[in-house]
Amino acid sequence: MNINDIMQIAQRVECVAPSPPRAVFDLASTLDDVIDLTLGDPDLPPPVNVREAACRAIMEGKTRYSANAGLKELRRAIAADAERQLGFAVDPDREIIVTVGAMEASFLSLYTLLQPGDEVIIHAPYWINYSQVVRSLGATPVFVYTKPEDDFQLTAEAVEELLSPKTRLLILNSPNNPTGAIIPESTLRRIADLAQERNFAVLSDEIYESLIYDGKSCKSILSLPGMKERSILINGMSKRFAMTGYRLGWAIAPAKLISQMTKMQENIVACAPLPAQYAGIEALSPRTDNSFIRKEFQHRRDVLFNGINSIPGLICKPIPATFYAMVDISGSGLEAEDFVYRMLREVKVAAVFGPAYGGELYKDFIRIAFTMKEERLKIALERIGDFMTSLKNR
Ligand code: PLP
Repeated sequence: MNINDIMQIAQRVECVAPSPPRAVFDLASTLDDVIDLTLGDPDLPPPVNVREAACRAIMEGKTRYSANAGLKELRRAIAADAERQLGFAVDPDREIIVTVGAMEASFLSLYTLLQPGDEVIIHAPYWINYSQVVRSLGATPVFVYTKPEDDFQLTAEAVEELLSPKTRLLILNSPNNPTGAIIPESTLRRIADLAQERNFAVLSDEIYESLIYDGKSCKSILSLPGMKERSILINGMSKRFAMTGYRLGWAIAPAKLISQMTKMQENIVACAPLPAQYAGIEALSPRTDNSFIRKEFQHRRDVLFNGINSIPGLICKPIPATFYAMVDISGSGLEAEDFVYRMLREVKVAAVFGPAYGGELYKDFIRIAFTMKEERLKIALERIGDFMTSLKNR
């Protein structure tokens, strides 16, 4: 064996493509004066009592390891919060694991559940991590493509068409990154029936459930009869309390799965960071008012929606949830990847090209994250308008 053989990268890692949003973000960070609309990372601070709780934990030396599944007090708080949402009791000792962000919760769930050869249905456009992790584990992602002309709505019929004897899992993400689409209860009911008739599991990533606008709400598939036993719920603090850097999330799943995930946690990160866990307990307490977060993003959503739709050649459909907009750029005459890199170089605005989230069907779209302050968002909109004008004048 020579040195290249010894340092050969494992196939399970080599098959993972670098993340396109990160690639645009990295390029943007090498240029001056860029307005970066790539990452879903809110610029708001968490509520002040949450920040104080994290500082207090550090100053009091609460900085050691916790149980692999997370602090019991935090799991109790998560269970109480979930019970309000789901309508049934969740056992904090057996059915919850606290993780390093929702990202680790979904990784650990897939790592624990999937066997090589299993098929996993993912609705596109999708959060890129799902397909990457599924592939890395030797399982096969099978994509159900939701269409722009249907407002990116998933149907149970489209899922049914893709079922095979190898289907193990369906990943649902509602509200959805990158489209903001919410799966209506009627569709969830049909999917729940299908899951029980055809025997597959569901991973429901509900990380954007706190960012639904205009007084609307979203049902969890776990709350439907017969689904708790075959589902994993993923959620976390990042979007709801603007705590992305605290890296705190969780999974709720049947005890058999949680115990295995907890066993693996020891071999991955041991536990989520303890000061973040104390901040999480505070975040879920009645003392916390996070209503300013949704209010602020709803306002920015309006600024972005009106701004984009006033630029000739661009179309933004209503955004019911999340802090992302899929903007139709077909009027520019460019395909999304070209559009994104030219817009970045020429007017210093960074966004992500649609095909990054599921391929060519989305070549007429870019994703904009409106996680910037209103003043910056308005400057970005002016620059995007200038870019569109300059394309027309060429
Ligand atoms: N799930 C979805 C759909 C996301 O968009 C993200 C982050 O952007 C995550 C999970 C990860 O969230 P966390 O910061 O809790 O790891």
